[in-house]
Amino acid sequence: MTRGLTKEGMLFVISGPSGSGKDTVIDKVRALDPSIGTSVSATTRPIRKGEKEGINYYYKSIEEFDALIEAGDVLEWDVFQGNKYGTLKSELDSQLQQGKFIMLAITVPGALKIKELFPKESVLIFNLPPSLDTLKSRILNRGRETTAEADARFRAAIENEIPKAVLFDYILVNDNLDETVDSLMSIIKAESSRFSRNETILKDLHLVD
Ligand code: 5GP
Repeated sequence: MTRGLTKEGMLFVISGPSGSGKDTVIDKVRALDPSIGTSVSATTRPIRKGEKEGINYYYKSIEEFDALIEAGDVLEWDVFQGNKYGTLKSELDSQLQQGKFIMLAITVPGALKIKELFPKESVLIFNLPPSLDTLKSRILNRGRETTAEADARFRAAIENEIPKAVLFDYILVNDNLDETVDSLMSIIKAESSRFSRNETILKDLHLVD
């Protein structure tokens, strides 16, 4: 069991450069603890081979995305490499009300916005690659983007993303996947065991009036 005592819902928000492996880490943690939910974002980025509507993203036109913002359905959104990405209110609200833990992989500004909206529920975790060389080769070798796009993602990582790690609650260095997953599970357990998230515990155990 990954969770500590709290019965409240929590948001574990992971940011980090493209190629730091955050989606893989989240998939592994969720495979080990299927009670942890996730949030499917909306995006204007074109669907990639192997991706599925409603599983990886809700794929929207620019007009559809803007209409969602206008309707107040988007909690936070950001532009990354020319495409819009946003967290949908509908994805978080019901899961939080049910007391679920949710993992989100979003950009740094998105993570900071979630912290502003949910200061009590959210924990921000920055996922670093073991070195810049590793990051560069991971981005280039996965072959998902053109070389120019991969270069832009690498530049975004060193110029905009990694310097913001100082604003996060935790840092992971994703060298060995199993160890990174283990660290993340420990963060989840420790954060959900904080006294501030379990203030009624003494009463619940009938230890105080
Ligand atoms: P990709 O195109 O590789 O799927 O995602 C590009 C970046 O957008 C990644 O850093 C990813 O974590 C981020 N992203 C995905 N969904 C959201 C979202 O809903 N909000 C924000 N702010 N970023 C997102």
